[in-house]
Amino acid sequence: MFLSFEGIDGCGKSTQARLLAEALRTEGHETVLTREPGGSEGAEEIRRLLVEGAGERWSAKTECLLFTAARRDHLERVIRPALAEGKTVITDRFADSTRVYQGTARGELRSMVDRLHELTIAMEPDRTFVIDIDPATALARGNARGGREDRFESLGLEFQQNLAAGFRSLAREYPGRVRLIDGGGSIEDVAARVRAAL
Ligand code: C5P
Repeated sequence: MFLSFEGIDGCGKSTQARLLAEALRTEGHETVLTREPGGSEGAEEIRRLLVEGAGERWSAKTECLLFTAARRDHLERVIRPALAEGKTVITDRFADSTRVYQGTARGELRSMVDRLHELTIAMEPDRTFVIDIDPATALARGNARGGREDRFESLGLEFQQNLAAGFRSLAREYPGRVRLIDGGGSIEDVAARVRAAL
């Protein structure tokens, strides 16, 4: 079983991915918890190129290629081998992030994103949980973490609002796979909604 968590910066998806992984392990499922950008040695190197670049180091198209290259390595080295061994894989972000961040929010690159995905990834999670939260709340939470390595979270409220709209429209585009999870309330409340959607 291949599961992904998606959403805007600071939405709480990493916490939820970890909690679900812990719950599934407790129930006896061998579970691999991983993340993007990154998740494999090569993809983590590409992540550094992406997140350490000050300002607009890469054009939107180059960034799209780098995220896709990282995903290809992650898929080959970590995701596919784990699934082949019968493990459950939970990834914190996957292709939907690229559809939203590079495909709509950073540039109108959705057709490039889709063609690259088709050529190099051609795989979707069995289920995707979009943690849906008011961007102002998420931004406050994100900032509260402080000192994060990435440049992306400084992009501002309007950008996060565009992202949130993008993730909601993905839920309409892929109604069977993508489940919109209300990200409000306590961590336990959100975890229970994820479980219900699984
Ligand atoms: O989810 P995480 O915080 O680890 O992601 C790192 C950063 O990369 C995020 O702040 C996000 O804004 C950015 N990102 C992106 N495009 C993607 C995936 C993540 O710009 N496709």
